[in-house]
Amino acid sequence: MISLEEARIRINRDLIVLPIVDVPIQSARDMVLAETVTATEAIPPFANTAMDGFAVRASDTKGATKDEPVALPVVATIPAGGIAPRALEMGEAMRIMTGAPIPEGADAIVMVELTRPAGFDVLVQAEVPEGNHVRPAGDDISAGTEVFHPGTVLTPGHLGVLASIGRETVKVYRRPRVGVMSTGDELVEGPEPLQPGQIRDSNRLTLLSMVAEAGFHPVDLGLIRDDEAAIRNALKRGVEQTDAVITSGGVSMGDFDLVKAVLTELGDFNWMQVAIKPAKPLAFGVMSNTPVFGLPGNPVSSMVSFELFARPALRRMMGRLDAERPTIKAIADEAIHRHPDGKTHFVRVVVTQQGDGAWHARSAGGQGSHQLRAMASANGLAILADGDGVEAGATINVLYLG
Ligand code: AMP
Ligand code: MG
Repeated sequence: MISLEEARIRINRDLIVLPIVDVPIQSARDMVLAETVTATEAIPPFANTAMDGFAVRASDTKGATKDEPVALPVVATIPAGGIAPRALEMGEAMRIMTGAPIPEGADAIVMVELTRPAGFDVLVQAEVPEGNHVRPAGDDISAGTEVFHPGTVLTPGHLGVLASIGRETVKVYRRPRVGVMSTGDELVEGPEPLQPGQIRDSNRLTLLSMVAEAGFHPVDLGLIRDDEAAIRNALKRGVEQTDAVITSGGVSMGDFDLVKAVLTELGDFNWMQVAIKPAKPLAFGVMSNTPVFGLPGNPVSSMVSFELFARPALRRMMGRLDAERPTIKAIADEAIHRHPDGKTHFVRVVVTQQGDGAWHARSAGGQGSHQLRAMASANGLAILADGDGVEAGATINVLYLG
């Protein structure tokens, strides 16, 4: 057996970061920026009002109070998207809406709540300072500013900034297309009654969903029989159409674990027995420049293996610096026992943050590698070092799955 760290080192050694591509900003969410974005335009592009109200000269509001308001004639109305018909003269006001440009001659805004109408005049009920509620041009971003740097993960807010500075495309690391196939003669898809010995294929849907959730583009490579030729063809087809392939099943010690045999024939593969439970067997190698992850078939094992190996590796391929899930400290609210076996155990737990701010962990249920239900309701994997486990009240590390 090799350690988890050693297995990860072997995977990382062979990883390549995907090429940089120009994508429309509409499809860039969660992608990693591969350029320095410089604003060619100021945001906001012109001085404008932060409030609905009246554009004035601050000096004209001197001494104004609720009881002794200053009356100013309203000489124009400026909607957002419009401009003032002329400059504001001393002793005048212009009605103005949030986002509209400040007229020439005005230097402050009185919000509508501090005014009341009186015929063609507005009664200003408070003295306002120069610059009141005025958002100067370039207040957020001035033209020429470097706004974002390579490595930034593009969130909805980043996309908004790109839209506001007029960018249509952006340079990012390509989002990996990740193929997923299931292997096994016992597997069936669809609702038909099961024949003796058959089970339904669940890994493919789960792994395709995990691929999408992690920010990659999922590609369904189908359900493949335990047949060398079928597996060979599926792998060859898979690596042609994707940036990475994930298989489940067929990598253990059984007589029909043919994925292992085919991968060995087709590429330079690492056969790993990783000192973890679940998900001990793992195959990893590169075929036609495409990484292939051979995950174990047991449903929980395939998910844990995806979490520990494929997900971080694939995120690195798309340039993400936050490739790993966070590890949090939690208090075990119940004993979590295990037996010494030379492996690190990843126990499916539910973690909740309680009133004191601390995280608390409880088992999510049955811990067999075939017991997918507990994995489905878990939001964390408690990392238990080799030994007897922990008693209630112990502090444990939990890989937080969110
Ligand atoms: P294997 O790794 O092929 O030896 O499979 C280990 C266990 O996982 C067996 O009980 C398989 O039936 C089960 N298994 C393999 N592939 C899948 C799948 N796609 N969906 C559900 N169970 C599976
Ligand atoms: Mg199998």
